[in-house]
Amino acid sequence: MSIPAITPPQRLLMGPGPISADPRVLRAMSAGLVGQFDPAMTTWMTQTMELYREVLRTRNEATLLVDGTSRAGIEAALVSLLEPGDRVLVPIMGRFGHLLVEIAERCGAEVHTIGTDWGTVFTPEQIEEAVGRVRPRLVALVQGDTSTTMNQPLEGLGEICARHDALLYVDVTASLGGNTFAMDEWGVDAATAGLQKCLAGPSGSAPLSLSPRAREVVLSRRHVEAGIADGTPGRGTRIRSNYFDLAMILDYWGEARLNHHTEATSMLYAAHECARLLVEEGMDAAVARHHLHGRAMAAGAQGLGLRLFGDQEHRMNNVLAVHIPEGVDGDAARTALLEDYGIEIGTSFGPLHGKVWRIGTMGYNARKDAVLLTLAALEQVLRAGGVPVTGGGGVGAAQEVYADAAGAATEAAR
Ligand SMILES: *Cc1c(COP(=O)(O)O)cnc(C)c1O
Repeated sequence: MSIPAITPPQRLLMGPGPISADPRVLRAMSAGLVGQFDPAMTTWMTQTMELYREVLRTRNEATLLVDGTSRAGIEAALVSLLEPGDRVLVPIMGRFGHLLVEIAERCGAEVHTIGTDWGTVFTPEQIEEAVGRVRPRLVALVQGDTSTTMNQPLEGLGEICARHDALLYVDVTASLGGNTFAMDEWGVDAATAGLQKCLAGPSGSAPLSLSPRAREVVLSRRHVEAGIADGTPGRGTRIRSNYFDLAMILDYWGEARLNHHTEATSMLYAAHECARLLVEEGMDAAVARHHLHGRAMAAGAQGLGLRLFGDQEHRMNNVLAVHIPEGVDGDAARTALLEDYGIEIGTSFGPLHGKVWRIGTMGYNARKDAVLLTLAALEQVLRAGGVPVTGGGGVGAAQEVYADAAGAATEAAR
């Protein structure tokens, strides 16, 4: 039997995630392994906690990685914070809101929802009204939902939740690094992310942070595994998952270094480097970069005659959705982009399936050359699909955004 080694084709991943990883992250992942209690390893774990505090803008001691893709972080947060019968409020604005509902239901919670049309966000008043009515123990929502490209404003929500004695959980997987997120300033109690969006890494590690209040809730359910028990009696209702038991994971990452799972070493190297990249650049600069390239892509798409989907005031910087033009086979066009140009863009889910394409400019691919190449290829694919497009209309419009930004920077430097 001779099965060839994996040799990936050249791809420029310009969809809603995953995206092409930064070469620095790939290099970090190829470093040799050490044991999980090697002082080198525990030092890197501590550094990783420090780095993600800066990325999430928090002072939370309980800031660590959950091994697994982003939804591992979501499951860990929800299963550790929720007990069967707890009331939860989930404002749903897209696919990932529905995911929060499903996971909270699997935790045995009593889940209440409010909805808004795909392509719109909630006002704080809408959320406060529902919090007052439902009286939840936890409000769970998504900051940036890639399925609709919307960015839910979070200012004020922490205060609303605190006033009603509810915890606030936010999934920031799609938005973190490309849009402002200020965990402490906004009073967020639990946040989880992933590496494969604006963090420029592969999927497989989920940064997570808990406020002191959320940490207390988790620790009030601490039960140490029988085989390593230290004699401390268990407290409260045992968390329903072993792998995602944040009380035990906190013991593993904390001073005690109590063994739980074996930390996914190569993924920790990746997460460490992803955060170093962002912290080196500066969080505000990273958001500004995503804003610039997102604007250039949006202008270019419009220059090709494409109509943008959703409330543009509240669009994430790092992903946009465009209506697929009348008469164009959306999937055939995506296949042509992939086969002829090596460029991947996304389709969408649920009510938007087959109606929009989603184009990302995030992480390592929030870059001028990636934006211009994608627009040039898209122009050809649209033309082949019978859409009358202005020659160079996309690249030209994007170049204008870059020229204006360069002009403004020169002006500011004067
Ligand atoms: C992309 C995305 C995820 C991805 O979850 P995975 O488990 O990493 O596939 C989760 N939440 C949101 C809001 C996302 O946009």
